[in-house]
Amino acid sequence: MKALKRTILMNPNIKNLSRSPKKNFSTSNDGSFLDNTQKYYDQAAASFKDKKYLDIIKEPRVSIEFTFPVERDNGTIELIRAYRVQHSHHVLPTKGGTRYADNIDLEECQALATLMTFKLSVHKVPFGGAKGGIKINPKNYSSGELLRITRRYTIEMVKRNTIGAGLDVPGPDLGTDSRIMNIMKDTVQTFYGKGDLFTSACCTGKTLSQGGIDGRVESTGLGVFYGIRECLNHAAFCKKIGIERGIKGKKFIVQGFGNVGYYSSKFLSESGAILTGVSEYNSSCYNENGINTEDLFEYKKKHGTVKGFPGATSWSNDEKNPFEVMFNKCDILIPAATENSINVDNMKKINAKIVAEAANGPTSVAADTYLTKQGVAILPDLVLNAGGVTVSYFEWLKNIEHRELGLIEKKWDTNMQLHLYKISAGDKFDPNVAKLLAGASEKNLVYSGLEQIMSHTLKSVINESIESDISLRLAAYRRAISKIQQVYYEVGVSI
Ligand code: NAD
Repeated sequence: MKALKRTILMNPNIKNLSRSPKKNFSTSNDGSFLDNTQKYYDQAAASFKDKKYLDIIKEPRVSIEFTFPVERDNGTIELIRAYRVQHSHHVLPTKGGTRYADNIDLEECQALATLMTFKLSVHKVPFGGAKGGIKINPKNYSSGELLRITRRYTIEMVKRNTIGAGLDVPGPDLGTDSRIMNIMKDTVQTFYGKGDLFTSACCTGKTLSQGGIDGRVESTGLGVFYGIRECLNHAAFCKKIGIERGIKGKKFIVQGFGNVGYYSSKFLSESGAILTGVSEYNSSCYNENGINTEDLFEYKKKHGTVKGFPGATSWSNDEKNPFEVMFNKCDILIPAATENSINVDNMKKINAKIVAEAANGPTSVAADTYLTKQGVAILPDLVLNAGGVTVSYFEWLKNIEHRELGLIEKKWDTNMQLHLYKISAGDKFDPNVAKLLAGASEKNLVYSGLEQIMSHTLKSVINESIESDISLRLAAYRRAISKIQQVYYEVGVSI
């Protein structure tokens, strides 16, 4: 009887959606996120003498849009719209985040999945790119509703072969967190885990008790820090853009003080860089002498705004556009919020030597071209913000191996090192040094593994950019594309 009383309540967002709409994310007229991502690809592809396979590398392989009904707490039934895109199958499984947002659509997933393929390729992380999501604002749903929505989304993905340790491995993204990833893993394990040892590797970003990995939360910001540090240690790079070497004393401004913006600021500040400005969606603050990152983090957590922060001049969006803070002079500008935030409308006001793209797709092609001509170095998203997916790869490996990183070797390594230290130190044996030799924790290994991958990629991309006199983005896309082209040369396409 209860079922008869239910009303079918269509999600109001769905009415406005065509099947696969072209969406312009920028406030200006410089194209959608997908247009921009594909234009970057085209620019890089145009510089290849050998163009074989380049057309097929560009296009997404699988783009799925589907709907499913979910019962809300008040008994109404709502139709939910969902997506999963797998951009490239040149290596499997595919990997990419899951976004819960009311403005998401298929095209946005295609752009993010495309970017992910080249991000993974340039860092030699062995997945094809993917992305997915659900068109809801998670803040409008109860915890129980999100549980039901996530379980149903996961089941629908299993039916379409778009989730599984060897198929496609979702992670968190905007609007999703470790709880959502735990639910995905639990759903796959509960309904489809019989005889399958690897179900815990079906998604990443889980909590530690569910097979997650220590260091994932801060990994993207940490990677941003490693990337910026690598650039500022590179003599030829610094000479080219006319900046003194080293992080210490460099002033930086951040757009978006969420996970990535905060952790990037934290690691940069701890190394002696100076945070001078922060732009949030509802407020901004600025102090040319420096803002204490931890104090601001605590303030924003408590008040939900940076307006009123005692250590800086601040304003709300009612008083002034929060974006304005980004036009102040600085060494490094870090967009860590949304797509196309630097575009034709504001590019001429940017007053930074380096734009460090912590967000995905923050700079439109037009703005990228203009700023590059002005001598601004843009550290591109596909290189700089790969920390999260790299550490997710470590999580996937941990789940496949069914053990904590370093677990088996740790005691042996510690004993060996202590033994050698005792012999070499003789009378000068220092128990404090001995403590340092007590083997690496999982977090130590995650940090050092990420540092190795970020530093190695950055060095190669900077060197290619300087040797060929091209932008870092072009160098990164070229390296990423040629690796995929090589796969097609070695394997072919026919089946
Ligand atoms: P988040 O939700 O934790 O933080 C985003 C922050 O930006 C929030 O504080 C929000 O209030 C603020 N914001 C939103 N719109 C804004 C605007 N117009 N102006 C100023 N601030 C605004 O998200 P996050 O995980 O930090 O992700 C930020 C960006 O980094 C996204 O583009 C995301 O795709 C990208 N990214 C994230 C990860 C990751 O591991 N979290 C990995 C790679 C890329």
